[in-house]
Amino acid sequence: MTPNPRLAPFGTTIFAEMSALAAEIGAVNLGQGFPDSDGPAEVLDAAVDAIRSGLNQYPPGPGMPVLRSAVADHQRRFYGVDYDMETEVLVTAGATEAIAGAMLGLLQPDDEVIVFEPMYDSYQACIALAGARAVPVTLRPPDYRPDIDRVRALVGPRTRAILVNSPHNPTGMMMDEDELGAIAEIAAERGLVIISDEVYEHLVFDGFRHRSMAEFPGARERTLVISSGGKTFRTTGWKIGWVCGPSHLVAATRAAKQFLTYVNGAPFQPAIARGLGLPDEYFHGIADDLCKRRDELVPALCSVGFEVFPTRSTYFVTVDAAPVIPGMDGREFCRRMAHDAGVVAIPNVVFYSEANKAAGRSLVRFAFCKRPEVIAEAVERLQGWKP
Ligand code: PMP
Ligand code: GLN
Repeated sequence: MTPNPRLAPFGTTIFAEMSALAAEIGAVNLGQGFPDSDGPAEVLDAAVDAIRSGLNQYPPGPGMPVLRSAVADHQRRFYGVDYDMETEVLVTAGATEAIAGAMLGLLQPDDEVIVFEPMYDSYQACIALAGARAVPVTLRPPDYRPDIDRVRALVGPRTRAILVNSPHNPTGMMMDEDELGAIAEIAAERGLVIISDEVYEHLVFDGFRHRSMAEFPGARERTLVISSGGKTFRTTGWKIGWVCGPSHLVAATRAAKQFLTYVNGAPFQPAIARGLGLPDEYFHGIADDLCKRRDELVPALCSVGFEVFPTRSTYFVTVDAAPVIPGMDGREFCRRMAHDAGVVAIPNVVFYSEANKAAGRSLVRFAFCKRPEVIAEAVERLQGWKP
């Protein structure tokens, strides 16, 4: 049987491929973005308590009230945006399912979605599964600022949505208030939905502050804000995410979501609710901690000869590998580095649309959400490497 041709261009996700390679050859894994230490004890204990107290059956379709209420409180507390937990908040199996549910629930065949590339790999696949088309706006180094005029120019009769990801994977770029405001304005003028992936909302450094897309004039009533507990509480394996937005957009997402997983992660839902209510110091602490890891890795990458582009958020830093091995494609470079240096990273070329792969050809992403000793080991290996 031939697989669904809509999925044919996408192959195996790079994260699975590179993590398997790291395990197979014993390389230090700075590829897939997952922390290698546990999150806050209160959150872990809450999950254990939930399992012990029998919260082990299907939770309600929209998610447990305790979590929907905690998500609504969190959006009010950090962004001053109010959501009705009954109709405007939906719990999903990670942000990944929220993205899939939004695409499948909102898009019709031949619709277009404006996306910023490089982009998280599930975006293109989910847009394709919905029969729609991704229309890319390319972000370019060194600062990866979005070209707002280009966004405006690309909106056409078939454009249905703009997908925004700030803080941005894989570059660590954050859109500023003018850029977010301009996107909100374009969407309002042209009657578009905004899908705003904010999973790195609390992993922001250097005194910057994340602003939710829904805070900008005209955005609240047309934006699905997506996030999850994985990054914020170092629980990427729990897959508890959520969508907030006006009820008609949330209902459309839920219409698709109910046939994807129906529900997930009952005992983890109250645990993430507990996390969302932690004091401000917790949220500042995780960003400070990650920022230190960034500051250990970045100078070492410079010393190896990479051109390193500034990152002010997320788990990631993007580099150009061309100065280290001129002319080599990023995929080939990452394989070579894994085998010869014993360090795994992700070739950014996978985050670009088919037509624009050249823009990411020699770029590589390193994850710094690892314990200091793991970063130190990777640095030692890279510095001893003679490419
Ligand atoms: N969006 C972005 C930009 C991501 O980097 C990730 C990676 N974890 C996700 C969504 C998926 O999040 P989750 O693990 O909650 O499904
Ligand atoms: N978001 C993480 C990354 O970009 C991993 C996601 C995944 O494995 N699907 O590395």
